[in-house]
Amino acid sequence: MIEFNDVTKVFTNKKQQVMALQNIDLHIQQGDIFGVIGYSGAGKSTLLRLVNALEIPTTGEVLVQGKNLARLSKKELRQEQKKIGMIFQHFNLLQSRNVYENIALPLELEQQSKVDIDRKVKEALAFVNLTDKAQHFPEQLSGGQKQRVGIARALVTNPELLLCDEATSALDPQTTIAILQLLKRVNKVFGITILLITHEMEVIKEICNRVAVMEEGAIIETGQVFDVFAQP
Ligand code: ADP
Ligand code: ADP
Repeated sequence: MIEFNDVTKVFTNKKQQVMALQNIDLHIQQGDIFGVIGYSGAGKSTLLRLVNALEIPTTGEVLVQGKNLARLSKKELRQEQKKIGMIFQHFNLLQSRNVYENIALPLELEQQSKVDIDRKVKEALAFVNLTDKAQHFPEQLSGGQKQRVGIARALVTNPELLLCDEATSALDPQTTIAILQLLKRVNKVFGITILLITHEMEVIKEICNRVAVMEEGAIIETGQVFDVFAQP
């Protein structure tokens, strides 16, 4: 589903060069819940942003479903990006829109009909169990509820892949577990592949089947969660 072949990413600011990623090789299979763990600055967000072409590699290639995103036309790229949903640490909801309207946004951008939008938003609301909060605004919601809105907004376009950027890092431990359970259900019910980045081992242990450990832009270990974190 996702393949990194000898990917390097260098950022150049003024005259400073930062090697955010070096020689990354990675294979993520369809249906995986794949976790990338590492300290701040390890290169996790850069890796995630390469998957939906928010960044392009300096060298090497990133393939998503066999397609090299850096080689696609703008139109083809937008088509591919539609198959990828994303959720964020701070949820990134629009404060001026209610829950229903936040979830409807990606469908409105695709200019879908009001009837289709209404049906899909209501399905998504039901899936994340927020039907009764449709008219609430983000500021009226708890952190866990906000992330459920984020998940519904990511799912409403039927993506094949969900990218999770520290999606539980702003939540308390109990809410974290609830959100991770919901993500497991997303994977199981819809067969959506999940790629998540986190600095928390507990998150990886709770839901991932495979993990890559990053340090200073490199993957230092990768494998089944059970093997990588097994006590010696
Ligand atoms: P993580 O997500 O693990 O905290 P990042 O991918 O955000 O790591 O960052 C990896 C390295 O790349 C850091 O040294 C960071 O400062 C640098 N970096 C990330 N994005 C940029 C950018 N747009 N410009 C310059 N340096 C960047
Ligand atoms: P139905 O025809 O199934 O009764 P409606 O379109 O009347 O559906 O809306 C029922 C609920 O759907 C509303 O209470 C609200 O939660 C949500 N809803 C529908 N359209 C909007 C909208 N434009 N903005 C916000 N919420 C909406």
